[in-house]
Amino acid sequence: MECLRHELGGPDASGRRSPVPIPGSEFIMEVDTVVVAIGQGSNPLVPRTTKDLEITKKGNIVADLATGATSKAGVFAGGDVVTGAATVILAMGAGRTAAKSIHAYLTGSGSSK
Ligand SMILES: Cc1cc2nc3c(=O)[nH]c(=O)nc-3n(C[C@H](O)[C@H](O)[C@H](O)COP(=O)(O)OP(=O)(O)OC[C@H]3O[C@@H](n4cnc5c(N)ncnc54)[C@H](O)[C@@H]3O)c2cc1C
Repeated sequence: MECLRHELGGPDASGRRSPVPIPGSEFIMEVDTVVVAIGQGSNPLVPRTTKDLEITKKGNIVADLATGATSKAGVFAGGDVVTGAATVILAMGAGRTAAKSIHAYLTGSGSSK
């Protein structure tokens, strides 16, 4: 397994320091098994390409958890892209909530953004 050494960089706007790769510090470790334990982030494509869609500083879409409504009229969101990494059951629930809100939005049968 090839590794790359890191060092702590300077603080960002929130005061948090992040690891920064040390160029040229690659080294090889002999291993039998690798367990991957990486962080997950939301796909940035939709937030980046959709004007007026409010997102958090972690890149998740801001949505009303009770309706799925986002800052953009007619756009609803739910699941990991709103909550960050969570569970299938929560994503399914959010999908159901958003479906009801979308129906209300399209038919004018209820209040939704
Ligand atoms: C390794 C791993 C193990 C997990 N194990 C469990 C578990 O045991 N139990 C559990 O409850 N949860 C588990 N989870 C979490 C669970 O998978 C997620 O919470 C759930 O899948 C979120 O559903 P979602 O619909 O919000 O997002 P996703 O399932 O990520 O679906 C989003 C979809 O949108 C698509 N997409 C993204 N961008 C675009 C675009 N621009 N245009 C069109 N399509 C796009 C993606 O390809 C993807 O198919 C696990 C997650 C991981 C990563």
